Amino acid sequence: MGGGEFTVEDLSVHYGGVCAVKSIGFTVPPGESVGIIGANGAGKTSTLKALMGLVPRSGGKVVFDGKDMSSVRARDMVRHRIGYVPEGRHVFGGLPVERNLLLGAYVRPWRAAETRKSLEEVYELFPVLGEMSDRLAGALSGGQQQMLAIGRALMCRPRLLLLDEPSMGLSPKLVDDILAVLQKLRGQGIGMLLVEQNAKLTFEATSECLVMENGEVAMTGTSAELRTDVRVRRIYLGL
Ligand code: ATP
Repeated sequence: MGGGEFTVEDLSVHYGGVCAVKSIGFTVPPGESVGIIGANGAGKTSTLKALMGLVPRSGGKVVFDGKDMSSVRARDMVRHRIGYVPEGRHVFGGLPVERNLLLGAYVRPWRAAETRKSLEEVYELFPVLGEMSDRLAGALSGGQQQMLAIGRALMCRPRLLLLDEPSMGLSPKLVDDILAVLQKLRGQGIGMLLVEQNAKLTFEATSECLVMENGEVAMTGTSAELRTDVRVRRIYLGL
């Protein structure tokens, strides 16, 4: 699959008079995993939404694989093979699991063979979704819905995946399962931008991290460095 470099410069987000993201910048090298950690309200979700074009950006430049994506809308991001796993999963509870997955392939509905292949890959990664393909998504457990949300994003054959708190509300065992999936995707060369409150998961799943505070990047470093940083250990790992 293979990623492309994803560069963000000077990105800001305002909600009315409130500045939620203040001129941040970072790069996700091709096929690499970058994490954004930070407390509740630090601006992590706003950053991802702004990158996807789901909230307006008040300034900034976004480049993916040499293409300027600054004014691209959400559905076109998917067309450029940037997959998005929203906070809170947002699966369509009244639709069967397989329909939810097929919705993730909406950018290439005419390519039935490719879609079938992607579906098989998702079922291989998440066997439980294959077993429950006819079940309504609303009947799945929280962990299964999270897998469905990731599976749906994979249906566009992403080169880069933006994930918003995939561990939210999951038991430690399920968080481990999500970590195993992220590591597998990383092994396939899919680039990742992972937003999380769970710093432990983020450090294990990524090679570099940013720490956001009050809409700004307070620290950056390799995940290995940050994991042992005294301040990070105290604030985010509770050690
Ligand atoms: P969380 O982990 O709770 O999702 P976060 O780090 O993702 O937190 P954001 O959700 O991006 O943070 O919020 C950043 C700031 O922007 C917060 O102060 C929040 O109250 C504010 N905010 C977020 N969405 C809106 C909105 N739609 N309208 C006004 N303010 C908002």
